[in-house]
Amino acid sequence: MGDLMPVNEALGRILAEVMPAGAEHVPLMQALGRILARDIYSPMDLPPFDVSSMDGYAVRADDIAEGVRLRVIADVSAGQVLNGSMEAGEVVRIMTGAAIPKGADAVVPVEQTDAVWAGVAGATGPDEVTFRRATKRGDNIRLRGENVMRGQLVLSAGTRLRPQDLGMAASLGMMDVEVSRQPQVVIVSSGDELVTPGEPLPYGSIYESNGVMLAGLVEQWGGRATVLPTAKDEHGAVRAMLQTALALRPDVIVSSAGVSVGAADYIKAVLAELGEVGFWKVNIRPGKPLAYGRVGGVPFFGLPGNPVSAMVTAMVILRPALLQMTGQIDDVQRITAVTGDDIPSDGRQSYVRVTLSREGGQIIARLTGTQSSGALLSMVIADGLLVVPEGVMRLNAGSEAEVLLLRLG
Ligand code: AMP
Ligand code: MG
Repeated sequence: MGDLMPVNEALGRILAEVMPAGAEHVPLMQALGRILARDIYSPMDLPPFDVSSMDGYAVRADDIAEGVRLRVIADVSAGQVLNGSMEAGEVVRIMTGAAIPKGADAVVPVEQTDAVWAGVAGATGPDEVTFRRATKRGDNIRLRGENVMRGQLVLSAGTRLRPQDLGMAASLGMMDVEVSRQPQVVIVSSGDELVTPGEPLPYGSIYESNGVMLAGLVEQWGGRATVLPTAKDEHGAVRAMLQTALALRPDVIVSSAGVSVGAADYIKAVLAELGEVGFWKVNIRPGKPLAYGRVGGVPFFGLPGNPVSAMVTAMVILRPALLQMTGQIDDVQRITAVTGDDIPSDGRQSYVRVTLSREGGQIIARLTGTQSSGALLSMVIADGLLVVPEGVMRLNAGSEAEVLLLRLG
């Protein structure tokens, strides 16, 4: 293992350095997927008043018995309120969502009376109504504060806001929410063989694919990504690329490729010139050559070029940094699975692409076929990454192992 830094140590050093990105207010309509910066305590009770959960009659429960006929004194629809109060022997025709009139303590559904409303639009119904059976106090009433009590914690800081979270905030009358600022991440790549999609592909070249993939990951993790054009494998070009990245005043710079020991690998040298190299070899597979440092005070992640290595190292090393910057709760799901294949390793902490299936009460993890770090299709097929811990040289079929589930969206 020699000069390879253990994954946990590398992470610890990065997390000791990265700063929170700050917070901003955004309108609810723009807050989907953003990370809530503060706990939200309800400023009010929900429902805010005692409310009918049925179409029927607001009554005093003590008045009601089989065959009792009572006078209907008023009509209240949702949004309306009865002026004054209901006396003994009186009932009020009431709709779902309307406030319970003063004096009433139960609602009897219309089906439990002799009234017929269906299809009689705008009808006010009979002036008297006969009840078919007794009722209890509180029947068909949702009490004020039954769903949420004023002062109750409803949404926790660090939550990635989902549609139901936004609906919750709106139900409390909120127009905007305080969310973490999105770290600005500039993504760069270098390689003479890389061609932008849409261009013709000369023999010997490949399409540049890490940019859009890393941008997608960054955005899933709460950042905003800008992808710069690919630089040639020249010292000056790589240097100019990093300077262009810096000029955008990002919170983070991420590059892929150019960090191994090939003749055309300039990232480390340029990083040393413009800033400082923290470390550049981590005990991880795929992805051992992995530079971390700073340029102009900006954290710099030099990921490997092979697409699978770039994605895995981004997940293991970059993601925790972005989560910390945005104060995000780690929502990666980890499960224990049983290996369906023998899985060889080499002592590095390894992230193996697996599919998962449920068989006889167990979750079985099988290799996705090729594990080549260049084969991005293995990532497309995989349900998760199976973790082979540091120091382990082989997992035999039938072993238990931890699997990180890949996000669906
Ligand atoms: P390198 O780290 O520059 O030696 O690159 C390792 C491998 O990853 C090579 O096969 C490259 O062609 C490939 N590679 C590097 N950058 C990219 C990229 N942006 N998109 C797709 N493949 C890449
Ligand atoms: Mg290269």
